[in-house]
Amino acid sequence: MKSCGDRQPRAEILSIGTELLLGQILDTNSQYLTRALAGIGVDCLWHTTVGDNKSRIEDCLRIALERADVILTTGGLGPTADDLTRECLAEFFSVPLLFDQSVATAIAERFAQRQIAMPESNRKQALCPHGACLIPNSCGTAPGIIWKVETELLEQASISQAQGPRYLITFPGVPTEMIAMWQESAKEFLVDTFGRAAIWSCDLKHYGISESALAEMYAQLLGLSNPTVAPLAGGGECRLRVTAKAESIDEAKTIASPVIDQIRKKSGYLCYGCDDDTLEAVVGALLTNKSLTLAVAESCTGGLVSKRLTDIPGSSLYIKLNVVTYADLAKEKILGVSPDILVNCGTVSSDCAQAMAYGIAKLAGSDIGLSITGIAGPGGGSASKPVGLVYVALFAEHFQRVQELCLPPDLPRCEIRQRTANAALNMVRLCLLDDSGVATNG
Ligand code: ATP
Repeated sequence: MKSCGDRQPRAEILSIGTELLLGQILDTNSQYLTRALAGIGVDCLWHTTVGDNKSRIEDCLRIALERADVILTTGGLGPTADDLTRECLAEFFSVPLLFDQSVATAIAERFAQRQIAMPESNRKQALCPHGACLIPNSCGTAPGIIWKVETELLEQASISQAQGPRYLITFPGVPTEMIAMWQESAKEFLVDTFGRAAIWSCDLKHYGISESALAEMYAQLLGLSNPTVAPLAGGGECRLRVTAKAESIDEAKTIASPVIDQIRKKSGYLCYGCDDDTLEAVVGALLTNKSLTLAVAESCTGGLVSKRLTDIPGSSLYIKLNVVTYADLAKEKILGVSPDILVNCGTVSSDCAQAMAYGIAKLAGSDIGLSITGIAGPGGGSASKPVGLVYVALFAEHFQRVQELCLPPDLPRCEIRQRTANAALNMVRLCLLDDSGVATNG
């Protein structure tokens, strides 16, 4: 990829539209363009949003031109008085707007196809700042603009010239029009200008460690520049994203792979997989490899763990029996939990969870029994047993474990269930990874 001065090109996206600032629409254009830029190896370092106001648009343009090499704007190319983008660009660089008759004819033809006369106001869409080029809009009337702003113009507008020319590309606000214009003109222009770099990334999924602890553990790697390593959190687990940039995908993978190996080695059992791997798929693969079987008794998750396990094709090989034992009577009659435990310890207790895990393993004749009991809320909690209190237990001949989870009581019910399911699946995973644990069959 060609550089700008002594570094890689940097882009900024300027989204123009008062509707965006009022929260009436979401800025999906920036999301699309950022990903599209990453796809050709251009780093987007800034997103700015500004309303339909000339002086504020010009302020934002100045800031963007000072720090970025490529500035992409969306919105404000329409025919109405509040569509100001092209006027702002021309005024900013003190160049005239020139009328392009062929573009005006093309816009008029678009209207003619719908048997409508072109409104006079649409003529302004055929105006182009002197020195810039209009790019066709295959899905609408407003052409876009591509402009290589040379250093003389930058000097005239009192913008630093040290990093060389700037590349301004304006798109209409309507997402379909913007996307078509990116694909049909802008992408090729940027690839011709800067060349293409490939970006490849891999998410190393971790369970059982917080984002901050993970960041501390890998503090040194977080400072790398190629590949970069970034911690991300969500859904009760976290990931380390390793991203490399090179001339080709294969080269990017080669750059990333020693760092990925290093992380996998250091994280050990904390890292359960990468990218699309799920806990249930990893558990399924381990059970298959070890020829072991599993049975699950669920209370507060209501079948979620069973659903996730059986989402994996081929799970009938290792799932022996899954039951949802919500009522106390079901726990007693189906799983053989003693009334004594139910009365004296309660349904949501470590003893009950262990008895459930033992009961389901015996009932199913499986190598592993897994159980879950807890309070998913929002009601049903008490001072001693609040919402979010959950017990997960596992029984296998040589490995028994019970875990108490105290999840935040203000989490939505579905989130408490998801996080509990993650903990339960992870417990099976750890059991299967434990060398001293369950004997491998066969
Ligand atoms: P038009 O020719 O339709 O006037 P325009 O370039 O002037 O196009 P705007 O008027 O700013 O664009 O926006 C038109 C519509 O496009 C908005 O009402 C909105 O629905 C959508 N839009 C604008 N900006 C964005 C954005 N950043 N992200 C997603 N949608 C957007």
